[in-house]
Parts: sequence; C-alpha cells; structure tokens
Amino acid sequence: MFKRVNLVVAMLGSALIVAAVCSLAGPVRTGGHVAAARAGEGEAQAAEKLRVTLDPKQFQGDVRKAYEVAQDDAALLDQLHCYCGCDKADGHRNLLDCYRTEHGAHCEICVGEANDAEAMAQRGMSIDQIRDALRARYAHED
Ligand SMILES: [Zn+2]
Repeated sequence: MFKRVNLVVAMLGSALIVAAVCSLAGPVRTGGHVAAARAGEGEAQAAEKLRVTLDPKQFQGDVRKAYEVAQDDAALLDQLHCYCGCDKADGHRNLLDCYRTEHGAHCEICVGEANDAEAMAQRGMSIDQIRDALRARYAHED
C-alpha cells in the first residue's frame, strides 16, 4: 500500500519536472537545430542518437537518396520495419539501423523502403499508412 503511494508521488514528481523543463524550453523553441540544442539535454541526446547514419555523399543515385532520407528524416525510418531480413541477420531494430552502416548501400529493399517511405510522407500519408504500404510491397520478398 505504502509502496504504491510512493510510486504515485514519484511519478507526480517526475511529471512536474518534465512540465517545468518543457515550459522553460518552450519560448526558445524556434525550430530546427538551434531549438534542439537549447531544449534540454535529454532531447539533444535523443536527436544525436538518431543522427548516426553514414554521410550520403559517399554514395550515388538511389542509394544516396536513401541515405539522405535517413539523415534528414531519421524519425520516420526509426518507426519503420526493414523487410530485408536484417532484423534477424544483423539485429536491426528498424529501417534507420540499415543506414548506420553500409548495409543499406547493398540492399535494394532497404533503399526502396526508405525512398518509398519518404515519397509517401511527402504526399501526406500517416505513419500507419506508410507502414501498411511498405508491408504490402516488401514483406513477401524474403
Ligand atoms: Zn535492412
């Protein structure tokens, strides 16, 4: 019983801290990298973690485009599954992982998925719609 109360108090406490940090960070959020740098360490670290894909300039054509998507829209690929089998073969957790190494450069599925996802996102499709479309298009190619 007491444990439970403590837990609630602790949760309330961290919620208050989060709220306080957010309201502090709020006014200086002007968008882009400047805001990310100012908006507290947690957010900056999370952004940094997402931004560890290879430089697109090393590649050409569709592969380069795919690495650009990974660099510019990491949050999108982070939410998508790669159907090339790299989840089992290389322990990839999502499509973004394919672009942290040269893996993506040698895989038509990885490249196709990233470029398709970006095109669909630009057409205004939701993440769920993109996920379904990628599954329909790539899931059977093992
Ligand atoms: Zn892959």
